[in-house]
Amino acid sequence: MVTEQAKTPAVAVETKPKEEKQTNCLSCNKPIKKIRRYYRDGKYYCTKKCWVSFIKKSKSEEK
Ligand SMILES: [Zn+2]
Repeated sequence: MVTEQAKTPAVAVETKPKEEKQTNCLSCNKPIKKIRRYYRDGKYYCTKKCWVSFIKKSKSEEK
């Protein structure tokens, strides 16, 4: 008598959607290069200038 254990089918690998990395500046929308980037509050900007202008812009939009 042979007891053959049912082979479990290969579990489908859960494919998570890759978290889209921010590659463009929030201010000028230019692609950010690794070397020159300005990180602030979880967001990337190409320069500090762009960050400042983005902050100013977002603040003016609040009003
Ligand atoms: Zn920029």
